[in-house]
Amino acid sequence: MAINIAIDGPAGAGKSSIAKHVSKELGYIYVDTGALYRTVGLYSIRKGIDTKDAQAVTATLKDIEVKLGFVDGAQHVFLNGEDVSDAIRTPEASMGASNVSAIPAVRTFLFDLQRDIAKNNNCIMDGRDIGTVVLPDAQIKLFLTASPEARAERRYKELIEKGEKVDFQDVLDDINKRDYQDSHREIAPLKQAEDAVLVDNSGCNLEEGVALVIGIIKEKLN
Ligand code: C5P
Repeated sequence: MAINIAIDGPAGAGKSSIAKHVSKELGYIYVDTGALYRTVGLYSIRKGIDTKDAQAVTATLKDIEVKLGFVDGAQHVFLNGEDVSDAIRTPEASMGASNVSAIPAVRTFLFDLQRDIAKNNNCIMDGRDIGTVVLPDAQIKLFLTASPEARAERRYKELIEKGEKVDFQDVLDDINKRDYQDSHREIAPLKQAEDAVLVDNSGCNLEEGVALVIGIIKEKLN
């Protein structure tokens, strides 16, 4: 049986950076489920559809094929055959993802894809509802968090490094708004699974965060 590790937590908590390193060390694949919601959001944004309009977004799903591919262990996401792995990493796509993710039909649309990967592969999957809804039977569940300021600081640096012109306060406001929306939606809200280990990595750099998470996983696997 495949070993599944679920990592949930708010935006910018370090889930993907940490999970990428840990998965490499363990030889597991890393699945970033946020990329799937971002891709559905991106399609609506490109079509000029309001990402909060449940009916309009739901109607786009029949025209969308979302696929995940793995190149040298790195995840790429494809929208109708186009590699949109970079295009989905903008603040606009982040908020679009949060909006479409509250629509039940969108969650249903992406559910099997996530479940099938986990069934067939040892993997670390990160998102908001992995431990609670997608993989309730995952062998290991972590809820990774950090203070809003620490999370905004990381996102801000990432965006600046990519050459985006952003304001720190805007990044912090976006993160707070997204977390509020993600935690308060009716379907599959962001929350810690009862059997998840809470990991706060506010004061940690990446290396320390990776060490912390590997330590917990190795202890649980033994
Ligand atoms: O993880 P990331 O920040 O890329 O996720 C983008 C958005 O997608 C989140 O703010 C959340 O609304 C949504 N999401 C979700 N369930 C997941 C992963 C992401 O609702 N499992």
